[in-house]
Amino acid sequence: MLEGSLFEKKRSKVTKYVDTPKVELEIPERFLRRGSLSKFPSLSELEVVRHFTNLSRLNYGIDNNIYPLGSCSMKYNPKINESLAELDEFVDIHPYMDEEYVQGALKIIYELERLLCEITGMDGFTLQPSAGAHGELTGLLIAKAYFKDKKEERDLVIVPDSAHGTNPASAVMAGFKVVEVKSDERGLVSPSTIKHFLNDRTALIMLTNPNTLGLFEEDIEEIAYLTHKVGGLLYYDGANLNGIVGITRPGDMGFDIVHLNLHKTFSTPHGGGGPGSGPLGVKDSLVPFLPVPRVSLKEGVYSLDYDFPKSIGKVKCFYGNFTVLIKAYSYIRLLGREGLRSIAEISTLNANYLQKRIGEFLEIPYKRLCKHEFVASLKSFRSKGIRALDIAKRLIDKGFHPPTIYFPLIVEEAFMIEPTETESLDSLNRFVSALREVIEEADINPDIVKEAPKEHIIKRIDEAKASRMLKVKW
Ligand SMILES: *Cc1c(COP(=O)(O)O)cnc(C)c1O
Repeated sequence: MLEGSLFEKKRSKVTKYVDTPKVELEIPERFLRRGSLSKFPSLSELEVVRHFTNLSRLNYGIDNNIYPLGSCSMKYNPKINESLAELDEFVDIHPYMDEEYVQGALKIIYELERLLCEITGMDGFTLQPSAGAHGELTGLLIAKAYFKDKKEERDLVIVPDSAHGTNPASAVMAGFKVVEVKSDERGLVSPSTIKHFLNDRTALIMLTNPNTLGLFEEDIEEIAYLTHKVGGLLYYDGANLNGIVGITRPGDMGFDIVHLNLHKTFSTPHGGGGPGSGPLGVKDSLVPFLPVPRVSLKEGVYSLDYDFPKSIGKVKCFYGNFTVLIKAYSYIRLLGREGLRSIAEISTLNANYLQKRIGEFLEIPYKRLCKHEFVASLKSFRSKGIRALDIAKRLIDKGFHPPTIYFPLIVEEAFMIEPTETESLDSLNRFVSALREVIEEADINPDIVKEAPKEHIIKRIDEAKASRMLKVKW
């Protein structure tokens, strides 16, 4: 049953509106809430509890079942991270408090920056950006300021055709022109192709490694060499760090700028547009351009340092999404060096196991040893009138969140599967069985697949309308 909002419950005869109390407040007129917001429906505690419990049952999250949404690293978020982020000592502080009262918070920011430098092989980090795409924009603005400072006019950003859409979008927002390069038959970026695009107008090349097919860019060292030779920079889209964390580092591969998605690799919950975090790291020559304030440590005292004249300025109020930072810090400290390495090892093992099993009944166009994810193609079902979307929707009926579909763009009817390291063999097997069932149904009973989901209160939605005419308010 569809659960309405609490305000819609007013229709029941017994509920009355409660007016907010009329007290004399010294609040300026313009800050007072007006209209329907000042009226709350009068409901019993039980009605409110049922409302939120029913709403939560309409949701699907990693706490329900496997969430194999490719490129998103939907892994288990340890509850201890939440408990730590909820401590009064964190929740009750305010960014305007004097530095001497928030030394602990500043220490977390400082130490998390150092940890991320160590993990990625970078020299400096900012924790301000609130998502991966925001980190990309920050990195591109830093590159722009860097070239301006060097009095070099570089306006081109090279992006492979396998890239996430945010890469070219961020480059354009930062005022660059995008040059697209094709991946080769291995699904990789090849130095011989890149060579033709590199020149004195090249500002950056943006790469994801492992790339969005889940494949490691084997020629990365040569690509880095060629790019640096013409004076360009390498940008690392860190959304896929899960496949290599603790084993190799973007800094060692030759990357100059890196963004991470704490809400992917570092296990802070995401979904529903909730708060994320997209820290950005750079090599030494770019450190002066990082956003301010930066947390510095002198004689055991942490302080906010604004004295970086070349800084691009602020990209987010205060210091970023602080409670998200606490969760990532706790996660990294909890796992330690060995634990971080096991993320990459087990996520890669899980993905290769799934690739092998699913490869028995689905086409895998770039079938090689993968990292933490792989991409199948459902294009052979097109002749039956069935698309990746239909298979995805039918998986919902079987109780599973679908994989990512139609991305990356270089695979037709793409079905991008990322199990993550936190799934057991049993849960991987259950996913394979459900997917196999759906694929068999597509053969025998295609209509049931085309009409899916049947078992869910929300059926097919108009996704274009949903994103273009967003209605976020009741
Ligand atoms: C998720 C993702 C991004 C964008 O990150 P957000 O945190 O969603 O802004 C960029 N590139 C790749 C490959 C991604 O998977």
